[in-house]
Amino acid sequence: MSKVEKPRIAIIGTGMAGLACADGLAQDFDLTLFDKSRGLSGRLSTRRAPPYAFDHGAQYFRADSAAFQQWLKPFEAAGHVRTWLPRHVNISADGTKTARLDAAAKKVFAPGMSAIGKALVAGRPQWNVYLDCGVDAVDGKAGAWVLRAGEQSFGPFAHVVLAIPPAQGQALLPVETSFTQALAKTKMLGCHTLMLGYAPDEAPALDWDCAHFEDDVLGFAAVNSGKPGRGGELALVLQTKHDWSQAHIEDDAEAVGATMKARFEALTGSKTFTSSSAASGYDRVHRWRYASAQVLATTPEQPYLLDRDQGLSAIGDWCSGSKVEDAFLSGAALAASLRNLV
Ligand SMILES: Cc1cc2nc3c(=O)[nH]c(=O)nc-3n(C[C@H](O)[C@H](O)[C@H](O)COP(=O)(O)OP(=O)(O)OC[C@H]3O[C@@H](n4cnc5c(N)ncnc54)[C@H](O)[C@@H]3O)c2cc1C
Repeated sequence: MSKVEKPRIAIIGTGMAGLACADGLAQDFDLTLFDKSRGLSGRLSTRRAPPYAFDHGAQYFRADSAAFQQWLKPFEAAGHVRTWLPRHVNISADGTKTARLDAAAKKVFAPGMSAIGKALVAGRPQWNVYLDCGVDAVDGKAGAWVLRAGEQSFGPFAHVVLAIPPAQGQALLPVETSFTQALAKTKMLGCHTLMLGYAPDEAPALDWDCAHFEDDVLGFAAVNSGKPGRGGELALVLQTKHDWSQAHIEDDAEAVGATMKARFEALTGSKTFTSSSAASGYDRVHRWRYASAQVLATTPEQPYLLDRDQGLSAIGDWCSGSKVEDAFLSGAALAASLRNLV
């Protein structure tokens, strides 16, 4: 079968779920991928601000399933998947630090969490990939969907996969589907990430790599520059508790950053710096409106939403979990199901 004869599928969103789905479909379909961001990989994201780099979304991931382990193997061989053995601590409300006993192997993509998208797509030149291309609407009819992105139109596509957060997917759905209700009931919470890049003479000496906080505001911190394949000057990533962020989702970024810094200083005794004193450092807050699923759409037995008759489906971590591996399993399972169409 030549490429032009293959059914055309559009995948909106190139996070782990969209990438896994595309890879599972590649043999049998003519694929077009869209992402509104300038880079691939979604919440597996890395911000570079030399001499600093920050993974400001997912920090590390687990690969417990045989399917994910198998899929990762070639990337592991190429050095894009590394095992991280952080010094992991819990920090209690009064600042007491205790070693955290967490035996699960932690993996990171290298040289940054976003590396997986680039590594995958580099080996799939036959895919049509449109970045910086947010899809505004899905028009047309079942079996012949047309995607609108600004002034541009793409299609027709036999099938459209929504690999984006559920609220955004719901807004794009052109018709009532068998999964409209499931999308509507799914809920995601926000998160704020504070990225602090220290000048060498300002860097605190930390005796941990990852910290979980007993606190209403701060949830987690990681020394990003200490992860395998990184380096550079001290780059610290702080993350809020999801409930706190949800309650402060519209707050001014600077106010959020100030609160996070104050909590970090109180809990660890380590210095941060204010924007005005950070002439040689880096100090930014990133807000994630959709960070982590609170109400899931499906179950692990069928971690995707599919309306075969309409030629529409939806995937993401939020189908049956809130982690990178859940996103992978969602995309891979939908691909296996769609392969039966040909
Ligand atoms: C702060 C934070 C910390 C986390 N920490 C961890 C962790 O330590 N371990 C772990 O396993 N998981 C963690 N996660 C969760 C993990 O990042 C996700 O489970 C996983 O990356 C989700 O992948 P996905 O493909 O489902 O969605 P996403 O990665 O969100 O991908 C969706 C993509 O769709 C694109 N998009 C949206 N709308 C449109 C549109 N209209 N047109 C085109 N493109 C569109 C977006 O730009 C994005 O690239 C964390 C997440 C956050 C935010």
